[in-house]
Amino acid sequence: MKIVILGNGISGITAARHIRKRSDDDITVISDETDLFFSRTALMYIYMGHMRFRDTQPYEPWFWEKNRIGLLRARIERIDFQQKTLFTAQGEGIAYDKLLLATGSRSNKFGWPGQDLEGVHGLYHYQDMEAMERHSAGLERAIVVGGGLIGVEMAEMFHSRGIAVTFLVREPDFWNIVLPPEESAMVSRHLREHHVDLRLGTERKEILPDAFGKKCGGGNQYRRNDCLRVCRPHRRRQPEYRFFEKHHP
Ligand SMILES: Cc1cc2nc3c(=O)[nH]c(=O)nc-3n(C[C@H](O)[C@H](O)[C@H](O)COP(=O)(O)OP(=O)(O)OC[C@H]3O[C@@H](n4cnc5c(N)ncnc54)[C@H](O)[C@@H]3O)c2cc1C
Repeated sequence: MKIVILGNGISGITAARHIRKRSDDDITVISDETDLFFSRTALMYIYMGHMRFRDTQPYEPWFWEKNRIGLLRARIERIDFQQKTLFTAQGEGIAYDKLLLATGSRSNKFGWPGQDLEGVHGLYHYQDMEAMERHSAGLERAIVVGGGLIGVEMAEMFHSRGIAVTFLVREPDFWNIVLPPEESAMVSRHLREHHVDLRLGTERKEILPDAFGKKCGGGNQYRRNDCLRVCRPHRRRQPEYRFFEKHHP
């Protein structure tokens, strides 16, 4: 039997290992992200220089051949479930008897104006971390939108490079869907002690492209109860952010 697993994250790879333990089936794992499985949770440590990419790969390169787990780097664009065939972005067909979808997740975007501008990224895939790396050179201020686990990781990542961080959190308290008020306050205090410009109760309104010839230079221009525009002084064409403060922190 030919088993195809779409996604080489922890779910896909765990499935592949268990299927191999119990059967002699033909196994192929497909992913468009990286050639080899790596630990997504360690992305921040690569950026911060604590680990090399290869240190985040739990299995040695020989593991896959030894265990007869085929790996294919490809983007799957379409699946014909009747014909049991996957189609890559290049139009190549890959037949399967059984298909496991382990395609994971991706960063949320909600149709905000400017969300697809260069320099606006989530952090989920390896390529997002590469984009952060690319945009970090010469960057003086980064804005992190979203006060959860990934947001605070991104704040720490930029902070580790000496890049000033403005951190927008919609809720009145940090990560209050998870943390009790005392702990939420402790994290907020800790962030501010490390000079993170934490703005609770603040939502982004839009992200504006930087117009050529428009001077962004001075950093923040801030008016209470109005919008805040933040320029990212960067060599490349940079977006400009505008957001509302619901509460003044
Ligand atoms: C920065 C960060 C830190 C995290 N920290 C923690 C933590 O501390 N603790 C914790 O429990 N969880 C953490 N998580 C969440 C955890 O990493 C995920 O829940 C987990 O990686 C999901 O694994 P998965 O195998 O389901 O999917 P994924 O790891 O997303 O793997 C799916 C793969 O499928 C590929 N794929 C999807 N669609 C296609 C397609 N059409 N064609 C080809 N390939 C495709 C994707 O590119 C991806 O490589 C963190 C996540 C991030 C981003």
